[in-house]
Amino acid sequence: MDFDVTVVGAGVVGLAVAEALSKVFGRVLVIDKEEGFGRGVSSRNSEVIHAGIYYLQGSLKARLCVSGRELLYGFCERHRVPHRRCGKLIVATCAEEIAELDRLEANARACGVTDLERLTWAQVRAMEPNVRAREALYSPSTGIVSAHGLMRKLFARAKKAGTLFSFETEAVAVETEASGSRLTVRYRDGRQEAVTTGLLINAAGLFSDRVAGFMGLPPETAALHWWKGEYAALDLPAGHLTTLVYPVPEPANQGLGTHATLGLDGTVRLGPNALYLPDKEEDYRVDPSHLADFHRAASRYLKGIAPSILRPDMAGIRPKRQKPNDPAADFLIHSDPLKGHVHLIGIESPGLTASLAIAREVCALIGG
Ligand SMILES: Cc1cc2nc3c(=O)[nH]c(=O)nc-3n(C[C@H](O)[C@H](O)[C@H](O)COP(=O)(O)OP(=O)(O)OC[C@H]3O[C@@H](n4cnc5c(N)ncnc54)[C@H](O)[C@@H]3O)c2cc1C
Repeated sequence: MDFDVTVVGAGVVGLAVAEALSKVFGRVLVIDKEEGFGRGVSSRNSEVIHAGIYYLQGSLKARLCVSGRELLYGFCERHRVPHRRCGKLIVATCAEEIAELDRLEANARACGVTDLERLTWAQVRAMEPNVRAREALYSPSTGIVSAHGLMRKLFARAKKAGTLFSFETEAVAVETEASGSRLTVRYRDGRQEAVTTGLLINAAGLFSDRVAGFMGLPPETAALHWWKGEYAALDLPAGHLTTLVYPVPEPANQGLGTHATLGLDGTVRLGPNALYLPDKEEDYRVDPSHLADFHRAASRYLKGIAPSILRPDMAGIRPKRQKPNDPAADFLIHSDPLKGHVHLIGIESPGLTASLAIAREVCALIGG
């Protein structure tokens, strides 16, 4: 056997899994089809450390967000990964939305998020003078993190513990053998090679359904749907906002609603929207015609944003397990102990927050 464990995908999830497994196994390999780590979903997101307010009680998202958030804060503090507990407001701008705040507060409590505070409009104004709200929920345990800083640290720690990384190396086929798997990889120059591995972890993000397919998981279990999320940058003076500001989520929305997020440098972005990509085209351009929608959505709860201060920013793609009009789906963490396979599928938001908890879950599944 060439390796004890092979991880397909060096995004934040694959890196977290490799970092955890490298403490237990001697020969760990991580492959990624790109030229370095973190070139996929993990580099194109809001970088929010979510508290765990929105997810269905008992779901993996709910459980791993709450535990992952605390693991992540601890990791960032210990290893000096740039982050900030900046807090977050969820704002209600009309009576119907106040009822939605009640529902969110109850859901959060049921999921183990016990630190939410209810704020009156006057308290919101004192906290964030540029926010318009009739009432709000304040989440003190929401924060922001440098996703790249986190991945850099996970990569360095896994490497130091002996993990081998092979970039520009794409998993293309798997044969299951009595003692493990024979994984065929293709390098950028077209050469192919087979490696044998005792355990095989599928952390391939947007392509985890494809990898699951050649690992033998039925397509109906692994199916992924792509949802693009575009962002708009806001030219605002530093200090215009000090917390993240979210609207109440719209029921039909596949995201959390167009929110205002902060970068660690104080810059403000709006987004992401949620655009279904039926053809799964990996296109990260931001359509400037969508700026008007961003402006309309954010003007409901942010003061002082003229249309002229919005610019197209970046976009990411969510690997979701649901199509339009389907109910919200959970992460899929599927282990096949006989084959020595673990699949991590549909790891959309809050996957960054939950990454260290997902890694623990994988360790528990494989007895590491
Ligand atoms: C718009 C948007 C906003 C988000 N905001 C947040 C947020 O604020 N907070 C939060 O907690 N989460 C957020 N998320 C979710 C979070 O970004 C993801 O859950 C997380 O980054 C997923 O990491 P990953 O490692 O699974 O995937 P990826 O980072 O995509 O890594 C998968 C890797 O697998 C590689 N790969 C694929 N196929 C193969 C193959 N055949 N062979 C070899 N390598 C392969 C890819 O190159 C890639 O590097 C957001 C996501 C999006 C899209």
